[in-house]
Amino acid sequence: MKFGGTSVADVERIKSVAKRVKREVDAGHEVAVVVSAMSGVTNQLVTWTSEIARLHDAREYDVVVATGEQVTSGLLALALQEIGVSARSWVGWQIPIHTDDAHGKARIERIDTAEIERRFAQGQVAVVAGFQGVGPDNRVTTLGRGGSDTSAVALAAALKADRCDIFTDVDGVYTTDPRIVAKARKLDKIAYEEMLELASQGAKVLQIRSVEMAMKHRVRLQVLSSFEDKPGTLVVDEDEIVEQEIVTGVAYSRDEAKITLVRVPDRPGVAAAIFGPLADHNINVDMIVQNVSEGGQFTDLTFTVTKADLERAKKVLEDRRVALGYQALVPDSNVVKVSVIGLGMRSHAGVAQRMFKALAEKGINIQVISTSEIKVSVLVAEEYTELAVRALHTAYGLDAA
Ligand code: ADP
Ligand code: ASP
Ligand code: MG
Repeated sequence: MKFGGTSVADVERIKSVAKRVKREVDAGHEVAVVVSAMSGVTNQLVTWTSEIARLHDAREYDVVVATGEQVTSGLLALALQEIGVSARSWVGWQIPIHTDDAHGKARIERIDTAEIERRFAQGQVAVVAGFQGVGPDNRVTTLGRGGSDTSAVALAAALKADRCDIFTDVDGVYTTDPRIVAKARKLDKIAYEEMLELASQGAKVLQIRSVEMAMKHRVRLQVLSSFEDKPGTLVVDEDEIVEQEIVTGVAYSRDEAKITLVRVPDRPGVAAAIFGPLADHNINVDMIVQNVSEGGQFTDLTFTVTKADLERAKKVLEDRRVALGYQALVPDSNVVKVSVIGLGMRSHAGVAQRMFKALAEKGINIQVISTSEIKVSVLVAEEYTELAVRALHTAYGLDAA
């Protein structure tokens, strides 16, 4: 069982989480609980680190931001003990949850569950601090924002758990973010591949890596409400979905920034000369468009990076301006990427066309387009986020009745 930030936001909420856990224990289950920090706490910790140093030492960042989960794991263990459930808290290094050394975005490599399992046998609940592990140098690591989902799935896989229930502030996975589209519909089931694509394109209900891991280890994953007692959304294999829609969901990501290089000499090797150094600096490029060149000599090249990488990307390219020979670099962080996702796209034509038409009807200009087998994404001005998501949700027949 994993409880997110709003589910453990204060002492009252933690007490009610304890009651929810007790029900599973009373039903005869062995339970491991993964908790997030109280809502808002991780943001505060992140702010403090950057107030001290804008470009900070990632090892110390991890020491600071991992503390939020330590608090909630101890409090939940206490709350469980108070209602007569034997429980013990664990922070990442105590289990241990071994990760690589990529501080701030570490990957889980191995979890040693022997001690937890020994205590299960004695009837003890394990309350595990999410979002963290221990690196090869024995220092605290964290798994990237939203990482408690991944802690939970990884632990479920390591324990060969029957279920991994992700309790959150919505009662399941919706056709789009229910906070911006009132007509969003809850899905009873969603395929791993679609959930992965939704998460990759910005739906933050599950961290991307948690879905990857669930898919790989076939963890039976469910997203459900920690406030209401009703079934949530099951993440399942594709063949378990009876009625496959063409488009299952719409996602958006505000975490995008666009760079246009104006009048780049159009000759072989120029794309490699631009994107090579970005890759060397660990900057991920997402969408790319290259215009038709003017008289075969110059072209404009536009691409996107995350907002967090924009300044670094600018610097890398400005340092190479003479060698690359472009006339101007135009950055724009006032953009949002909106995507439609669905396995049904593989066998249907006209999916992208419907998207372009729906956006055109709302007067929304498309700046960049990219497609893959099961998604179409467009980049539009940020002020159109809600309008674009709602228009697409309607255009693909996803609105709730
Ligand atoms: P937690 O703190 O429990 O981990 P998150 O805030 O990380 O919760 O994730 C839940 C949020 O994800 C919801 O409040 C909702 O606004 C957002 N969200 C975005 N897209 C979707 C979607 N397709 N279905 C459900 N929730 C979504
Ligand atoms: N507390 C961490 C965060 O906000 C991890 C999580 O909640 O999943 O990113
Ligand atoms: Mg989350």
